[in-house]
Amino acid sequence: RESTDLNALCDEYMRLSYHGLRAKDKTFNAELKTDFDPALGKVAVVSQDLGRVLLNLLNNAFYAVSEKKKLQPDNYHPSVKISTKRLGNQVEIRIRDNGTGIPQAVKEKIFQPFFTTKPSGAGTGLGLSLSYDIITKGHNGSLQVQSQEGEGTEFIIELPTANEAV
Ligand code: ADP
Ligand code: MG
Repeated sequence: RESTDLNALCDEYMRLSYHGLRAKDKTFNAELKTDFDPALGKVAVVSQDLGRVLLNLLNNAFYAVSEKKKLQPDNYHPSVKISTKRLGNQVEIRIRDNGTGIPQAVKEKIFQPFFTTKPSGAGTGLGLSLSYDIITKGHNGSLQVQSQEGEGTEFIIELPTANEAV
């Protein structure tokens, strides 16, 4: 693990994910919101692994808002937010979108390897299962989801800062 500025990492992957989607679909636009806790400090993480988690979650978020935009071209403003917060001995990263949301029956399966609702070619179904392992096994953290069908989704990563053990 390396001592990492998570605010900078989140900011970097937010742009990377958004520009990746825009490269494929030039007409796609979304509002990018950030809310970074200046008191976050540096956190010991495997930054390449954490970056991969952020990219998975952000790619999913941008996909969900772009799908909703296709269904609802008028009167809908895609928005993705990433935020950080220090809470005692933990840091929290939240990734929220106002996209399609996840139906309850689907929510129960999203962390399973190879589970996807996307058309073939659009997703492998491995992003969340890999992300879950990186956060829980790799960093002793937790990864949770809150979602309302039709309204949007929020993923919450919690990482301990006190436990520096590998
Ligand atoms: P993939 O993106 O390849 O489908 P993931 O493991 O990343 O695989 O996600 C699994 C499934 O979880 C997705 O197919 C989708 O149904 C659902 N999902 C994940 N993130 C979101 C999100 N932000 N909004 C709506 N659905 C989501
Ligand atoms: Mg994915």
